[in-house]
Amino acid sequence: MSTVGFDRVAGQRRVKALIASALGRKRLPHAVLFTGPAGVGKDAMAVAIALGFACDDRVPGGCGVCRSCGRMLRLEHPGFQFVQPVPTKPKPMKEEKYFEILRERGLARLRNPYRSVTFAPELTTAPVIGIDTVRALRQESHLMLFGGGTRVILISGAECLTVPAANSLLKLLEEPPEDTVILLTSPSPGLLLPTIVSRCQTLRFDRLSESDVETALIERWETPPDKARFIARMSGGSLDRALELADGDFEVRRDSAFQALEVMFEKNPAARIERAETFLKNTDKTEMQDILQMLLALLRDLQQIRLGREDGRLDTEAAGSLAAFLRAHPDLDIDRAARSVLRAIDFGQKNVYLPLILYSLDQVPGN
Ligand SMILES: [Zn+2]
Repeated sequence: MSTVGFDRVAGQRRVKALIASALGRKRLPHAVLFTGPAGVGKDAMAVAIALGFACDDRVPGGCGVCRSCGRMLRLEHPGFQFVQPVPTKPKPMKEEKYFEILRERGLARLRNPYRSVTFAPELTTAPVIGIDTVRALRQESHLMLFGGGTRVILISGAECLTVPAANSLLKLLEEPPEDTVILLTSPSPGLLLPTIVSRCQTLRFDRLSESDVETALIERWETPPDKARFIARMSGGSLDRALELADGDFEVRRDSAFQALEVMFEKNPAARIERAETFLKNTDKTEMQDILQMLLALLRDLQQIRLGREDGRLDTEAAGSLAAFLRAHPDLDIDRAARSVLRAIDFGQKNVYLPLILYSLDQVPGN
């Protein structure tokens, strides 16, 4: 993935084609609502559109490095207004400090629109977009842009608009200033006022494919290919989730998953129970879901190796230990194990099913 223009947006070929065509015909609607799961590129696309309008080199989607692109990404460009949900100011906190935190988190979001922003530990209330923010937006949107051009207003996480804020935004949508594009993004458009949704053109973003996530991790975040492939499988098509996994103690968890695999297929029942107990005692309960996801990815790798379809993307160390595992367990029923793990994942958050499959595959209901 290059770092220029719409290439900064991973995957989303259908959406990119639609937007490129609308921009080419200068027919982008004045208000567009981007919907779709978190971490699939709604904000990344919106930022690229904004940069493209101001870029000194007129690169569609923005070059990201010229003076105007730089000013936009630092929130210093009058042609770009960016709003995201924020927690309210705690009473004892000075205003100056509060706005400094908001600005810093805003810049972080623009630097990497795929990654969700957390305001903890400084600010802890549920983030909202309040009436004051929308009022300020409306005032500013009526100021002339020096030198002309198109102004982009990006409202990220629009489902967090309070009702008064949404009503205020409605006025802006009803009488949009000239040469202004209003982009709303939301993973849950059902929470928006229907009157807002009806005034926007809705554009749905799909989950990213595993290979789009993998490519983005490798090319843009310099993740080693082996790790990128594994994380992509666990990401559920969300780069936010993928980056969270990449930042976390991925290697430790992967080791845990491999240990779980060994316990699951320990042939001696008494030894299996003993090893399962040791494993569970040493594993944080909150990590069970991650370990199950990794276990599933490991099983899929095992299947590929057994079928001789291993395409060389596994690093030699990982491939070596999985191949050794297969040699030690020649009659392994991988399909059945994968089905058990999948069911354990589906049964969800109760954290009881990993223990069950460690003790015996047959204990998971429905196997
Ligand atoms: Zn530029």
